[in-house]
Amino acid sequence: MRRTVLQNAHLIDHRGDHGKADLYLRDDVIEGIDLGGEVAQTIDVAGAVVTPAFIDLHAHLREPGQEVKEDLRSGLGAAVAGGYGTVVSMANTTPVVDEPGLVTEMLSKSEALGLARLRPAAALSRGLQGKQLTDFAALREAGAVMITDDGEPVKDAHLLRRACEYAAELGLVVQTHSEEPGLRQDGVMNEGLVSQRLGLPGNPVAAEAAMIYRDCEVAMLSGGRLHVAHVSSKRGLQVVEWFKAQGAPVTAEVTPHHLTLSDETLEGFDPVYKVAPPLRTHDDVAYLRNALIRGVIDAIGTDHAPHTQAEKERDLLEAPFGIANIEVTFPLLYSELVANGGLELSTLLDLLQGGPARVMGWQVPTLEATRAADLVVLDLETGRRVAPETFKSKAKQSPWTGQVLKGWPVMTFVRGKMVFEREVLSD
Ligand SMILES: [Zn+2]
Repeated sequence: MRRTVLQNAHLIDHRGDHGKADLYLRDDVIEGIDLGGEVAQTIDVAGAVVTPAFIDLHAHLREPGQEVKEDLRSGLGAAVAGGYGTVVSMANTTPVVDEPGLVTEMLSKSEALGLARLRPAAALSRGLQGKQLTDFAALREAGAVMITDDGEPVKDAHLLRRACEYAAELGLVVQTHSEEPGLRQDGVMNEGLVSQRLGLPGNPVAAEAAMIYRDCEVAMLSGGRLHVAHVSSKRGLQVVEWFKAQGAPVTAEVTPHHLTLSDETLEGFDPVYKVAPPLRTHDDVAYLRNALIRGVIDAIGTDHAPHTQAEKERDLLEAPFGIANIEVTFPLLYSELVANGGLELSTLLDLLQGGPARVMGWQVPTLEATRAADLVVLDLETGRRVAPETFKSKAKQSPWTGQVLKGWPVMTFVRGKMVFEREVLSD
């Protein structure tokens, strides 16, 4: 038996603020509060917030095959540095995760690393080709928790219908990257005043809203559990809300970047701001932020999408889509939405803990005894600069470079073991 105590912890979970106490961990679970007795390790967290580690339903970890961008070690290392204890990895790797053997291999590799818990998603179609369904039952058996062709919209609505029906039988969630390919075309940014001014090919909100509409109709038709990834626009989210109001089996997530950045950031033609779906207008950002307060968004997913420096330094038209953001998600959202916005800390925490768990049908994490000792210690006071060169991720670029943020994770525990500790540096 191994006992650890986190002394002087400010305990917060989705049930509320439990004040200051000493939190005891026994092996891989929470033992209880203020128990006393002998411990192997005493960690004084000096009044910092201790809360369940975050869950990310949407991260691109790039292994297998794209280890030049990221691998399980760097990606799951970045995750724990961001306060995440559980990560759902996307299947658009090389090869695509469409075979049970790949799922098994990723799980055993990640377990040997002992960082964040990996929960792989598997592809909906073989090779993400949108033609033939994968073997959902075998993939689930191997440990896949979600079915998605993320990166690619499912063009064939009938294939999506069959996927939803099949997934429903197995209790799996289908996640969609909802952009209508014919409308999206080769857009590299939001279609609007800014894209016109810059002379760049636009991707209209209609591409997202129309595809979300189609995907939600298919979910209703089939009874499948559909999770709409990275909703970026007001109209897109309004479609989700309309379906939810009718009791559709639909959930939705938003990303940190769509909550904090607008299409005006593309004015410098810097590919660091090139993401899919694209950054939208200030109005869209305001609508998404307000929707968090109104409780109509189920979860925040990072869509952490690392690329090499060389790729992200290409011309805006050529550079790949994606931002490496998992290490700054909490400080960014805490600083912009809680400290300087109208969002309650408890709401933000729930969108990163209980929200994702409810989307997946998992037990909602709390600080109660016997629950998993997957925890993050958050320093809400100290301002630290975003310094991509210190990222655990292989992708050392960030739209927020140099910004001073508060709310940094300073320690992360997974299965009762400290898997991340931030060096105590500040400026
Ligand atoms: Zn996507």
